[in-house]
Amino acid sequence: MEKTLHNILGEIRRTNAPLAPDALDRIIRARNREVAGPVRYVAKKKLLPFYQEAKEHRPEHWRTWGVSPAEEALLVRTLQVKPRRTASGVATVTVLTKPWPCSSACLYCPNDVRMPKSYLHDEPACQRAERNWFDPYLQVTARLRTLHQMGHVTDKVELIVLGGTWSDYPEAYQIWYMHELFRALNDMGCETAVERESETRRKQYRDTGIACERDDLANWAAEAQARVTAGDASYNETVRNLYACGTRADNAPLHSRSTDRNAASIDAPPCSAAADDTQGAAFEPFALDNLQGSAPNSGWAAAAQWQTATFFQLEALQRENEAAEHRCVGLVVETRPDAVTPKRLATLRRLGCTKLQMGIQSLDERILAANHRGIGVDRMQQAFELARIFGFKTHAHFMTNLLGATPESDAADYRRMVEHPAFKPDEVKLYP
Ligand code: SF4
Repeated sequence: MEKTLHNILGEIRRTNAPLAPDALDRIIRARNREVAGPVRYVAKKKLLPFYQEAKEHRPEHWRTWGVSPAEEALLVRTLQVKPRRTASGVATVTVLTKPWPCSSACLYCPNDVRMPKSYLHDEPACQRAERNWFDPYLQVTARLRTLHQMGHVTDKVELIVLGGTWSDYPEAYQIWYMHELFRALNDMGCETAVERESETRRKQYRDTGIACERDDLANWAAEAQARVTAGDASYNETVRNLYACGTRADNAPLHSRSTDRNAASIDAPPCSAAADDTQGAAFEPFALDNLQGSAPNSGWAAAAQWQTATFFQLEALQRENEAAEHRCVGLVVETRPDAVTPKRLATLRRLGCTKLQMGIQSLDERILAANHRGIGVDRMQQAFELARIFGFKTHAHFMTNLLGATPESDAADYRRMVEHPAFKPDEVKLYP
């Protein structure tokens, strides 16, 4: 590996420019021929991490290579993997929330109880999230490290939080989740802090036993999906009960108690002791009651006990982040139009969100009804209007080939969404 790096640096010094892909490829292939083992000895993606490791952990040895800052910049440009990832100057970090149901039940939406509603466990971002217990701190720090090793600058970060319907999560979890995202960004300047915090956090999850329950989850997921496929009329409730969330969304008295307290805390002045107290009082019973529930994965219920933070703590981290090495320049959550209300938007502003991803899927009332969307076009229009009034950017999800759609109806429907002033989202994600 080191010899290959020296060969690349020699070429950079000779030309005073980054190497073209074919020139880099020639050097790597020549070195692999020299070593001639059963597996490829050198791969492009391993070279930059090797260089960074030498610089950070073996500085005396690295200094003998005599790499100037200008040569290092050319080396990074040569070895950078997937340069489009940060071509805009902003590094995008996608994270998932924990497994959780959605209060809606659209016909096409998968039910994989290992994931937040609408996600499948075999997608790359989902696998990354599961490996990290869906923990925001672990997901952000791991992703930023990977981007760094791929040669990307990560001083400006857009955080994209995926997972079902954001506002269906308990508010305690929402605040904690954002708190951990900002804490991860702020800590990234100090590797020792990240190492220490990550290890502590992994131990917390191992202690809850969440990791041991994956086989059970796979069986529950298969059962839930089988019921959906068989058209089981009670599937919606079944699926919700099967979710590995640990906290049950159907606990009405608890839910209303929590909602009332949250409402009071929203009205309390930000960063005040009153707000802090109200939040704490609101969420404590939520965690305790859940521990007494019969949810299949009690590990998540145990984790919910310590997955709490207050707005006061979150706002302190947000202020700190304004001058941090890794600054959050955008924060996106996923929701659905009928969950967009003035009160929830006010909460989202306070959480630090800047953009809403909204599931639109179709603007054809007939197709919406056929697919059990439970939302009409008027409500979608209202959601766009509210989001703009509250200063959010909008990102719409659109689906083709839904039940009842034709290529022609999809084309007309899509055109309406991107051209009609009532909608015209800032961004669109098109799902086939
Ligand atoms: S609102 Fe979204 S997450 Fe909920 S069921 Fe429908 S598609 Fe799935």
